[in-house]
Amino acid sequence: MLALKTISRGMPFKSKAANIGKDEIMSNISTANKKKSNILSASPAQIWKSRISWRIALAVFLTILAVQAIILNFTLRDFENARLQELREVGRSAIVPMIDSRITDLLASPISPEEAEKLITLTKVNGLSIYSNQLDLITIYGEPLALVMLERESLSKTYRSTDGSSYEVVYRANDLGRPFIIVARLASSHIQPQVQAYVEQTIIVMLLMSAFVTTVLMIALGHWLLEPILFMRNNLIAASKNPENPNIADSPYDNGDEIGEAIEIAQNLIKQNADNISRIKGAAQDKIHKLAYYDTLTSLPNRTLFIQTLSERIKKASAEKTERFAVITIDLDHFKDVNDSMGHNVGDAILRAVGKRLRSAMPEVATVSRTGEDEFAVTMPLGGDVDNSKALADKIAAVIRTEPFKVFNEQFQIRASIGVSTFPDDATDPDQVLKNADIALNRAKEEGRDTIKEYSEDFDRAVQQRFQMLRDLRDALEKNQLELFYQPQLDLKTGEVFGAEALLRWWKPDNSKDGGSFVSPGEFIPVAEQSGLIVPIGEWVMQTACEAAINWEKEYGKKVRIAVNVSAAQFSQSDIVTFTQKVLNDTGLDPRMLELEVTESVFMDDIQHTIQTLQNLHALGVELAIDDFGTGYSSLSYLRQFPIDRLKIDQSFIRNALNNPDDASIAKTIIGLGHSLNLKVIAEGVETLDHEKFLIDHDCDEVQGFRYSRPVPNDNFVEFITGYDGKLSSFV
Ligand code: C2E
Ligand code: MG
Ligand code: MG
Repeated sequence: MLALKTISRGMPFKSKAANIGKDEIMSNISTANKKKSNILSASPAQIWKSRISWRIALAVFLTILAVQAIILNFTLRDFENARLQELREVGRSAIVPMIDSRITDLLASPISPEEAEKLITLTKVNGLSIYSNQLDLITIYGEPLALVMLERESLSKTYRSTDGSSYEVVYRANDLGRPFIIVARLASSHIQPQVQAYVEQTIIVMLLMSAFVTTVLMIALGHWLLEPILFMRNNLIAASKNPENPNIADSPYDNGDEIGEAIEIAQNLIKQNADNISRIKGAAQDKIHKLAYYDTLTSLPNRTLFIQTLSERIKKASAEKTERFAVITIDLDHFKDVNDSMGHNVGDAILRAVGKRLRSAMPEVATVSRTGEDEFAVTMPLGGDVDNSKALADKIAAVIRTEPFKVFNEQFQIRASIGVSTFPDDATDPDQVLKNADIALNRAKEEGRDTIKEYSEDFDRAVQQRFQMLRDLRDALEKNQLELFYQPQLDLKTGEVFGAEALLRWWKPDNSKDGGSFVSPGEFIPVAEQSGLIVPIGEWVMQTACEAAINWEKEYGKKVRIAVNVSAAQFSQSDIVTFTQKVLNDTGLDPRMLELEVTESVFMDDIQHTIQTLQNLHALGVELAIDDFGTGYSSLSYLRQFPIDRLKIDQSFIRNALNNPDDASIAKTIIGLGHSLNLKVIAEGVETLDHEKFLIDHDCDEVQGFRYSRPVPNDNFVEFITGYDGKLSSFV
């Protein structure tokens, strides 16, 4: 109790919740005081309504009644005895004067028959037995009596008739003043009503007394016990309704007794509880705030807080028309590679280190935020040393570049692509300023990374064009404006056309004299990939290409394996295995007659998932080729794990092989590498006889290129394969 008091005094009742202001607390207290009179104090009316009061009252009332009933039981007998005693006295007073004192014969009746007659008719005495002092019956007057004196012990007896109408008593010589014993029967029927009246009166008194005592007790109990308990109960109810901010009044009761003490404990507990709730809520709110607005890895503000800060600054700056701001977005180059090859621990440590370095290099007034996985953003008012956004971007690039990041005892040289936008020069809306910086950042990434790009309206136009292209492409898919062209693939040793690559074409109608033009897949495939539209497009390609291959075999007897290009996005965004299986089932194409071409970019996504998907595809029986090999991210160790059948040397190496020794040696190396891994090697972009000779000389297996045929519509491709004489030299 003592400890509790100390704690409660040590922690005065106040709300620590961040949002509850002083005013609010004060208003709560005043409302509480106002309500105090009608809610918090226990009125007498409330006491009489309380169930416990009634139970106590009833118990007290009945107890008093029971005690009085027991007492009545005793006093009733005394009362009756006293009445009988009085009657006996009445009888004696009537008899004694009738005794003839002159009688000397102790065996003769001292009362004459006449006197006896008078006694019986005029007094309460209605029968007499007269005995000598030696108990000899001398005479009897009136009806014989029930009490008969045969021995001395009988002298102390009395007799009461069962209906209470007569009472027989013995008067001894002492009572009479004469040496006789007289037994008299006295009429006692008047005593019964007297007893009854006594009982009735007593009961009324008892009831009044019980009621009085109960009332007094209830008032006392009410004041000392029930009122405080009801006060405590009302406070507990108020606390349970609003535990965080309970409307409870201070106790008016003295804490010197047990009830007062209990109230004080309850009050303190309520206040402590409120205090705890406020504290827990405050802590939870802090935590939620932190989770919602801060990045857990770097502890920097997240994108939401960054935009919020930016908005506030811009609002203030717009109002004062003074400040200009730089908004810089930063994306770490090839961070995914580091993450995939070194593991997430290393990746996380680098992100933390970058965040730390950026934060400490930027002045206090700058907001440094982690806005995405490997993306950071900085905003800062311009002026003083840094009076233009580009200067700030240069500083940021230098901060990241100056020295490698040392993580787990390894050095990592990190580069970044940086987008720059300025308020209010580029936009006045906070979202737009950030968006512009992101657009500039994307441009920096597209232009080979490790660069800084300042936002320009032209970028915006390019973005708008992309959006337009996406809308048109959706339309094209619905209106069947997509078409597949086929380009033959030939075996360098036998000259046979063993396959064809399906290449997508988009015939986009316009107002030109041709009625439209082909849009290059190089233009629209990236847009389709970014938007996810590549999934339905890719499915249409696979379905159409397989149908074409079946048709070539059934209609023209030409077994030609069809090669279909598959984007990395199709691996991550769709179940390509199930879909491939479905197409094979639907078309009835031999799985070995389908080849899927993937670029090295698929290996940059979830590597385990990629390996699993490729293995499942291979298990279906389809062939797998790596397209544009040599241009992307190649890991020889991964290459061994993939179930690949074919490497496709990128056309750039073939194009330059004859005049650039480096490209020639890359082409040769790829052929050697493919053979050492037991893979077929196909060269694409074969345009001339010299290209072909170079490839034959270096033992390349297969070729594809304009030298044999450009990609052509289905009908032209059928013409090609049906008209082909099987000799490579025919192209000379
Ligand atoms: P790719 O898969 O490497 O396709 C080969 C590209 O080289 C084709 O360009 C083809 O026309 C071109 N080509 C073939 N032989 C020669 C040659 O001798 N000289 C020259 N200069 N070029 C030659 P295209 O059709 O413009 O396709 C470009 C890229 O678009 C393809 O590169 C492929 O990555 C993508 N693509 C095409 N169709 C699809 C498709 O259905 N799905 C996906 N995901 N990507 C596709
Ligand atoms: Mg290809
Ligand atoms: Mg290629």
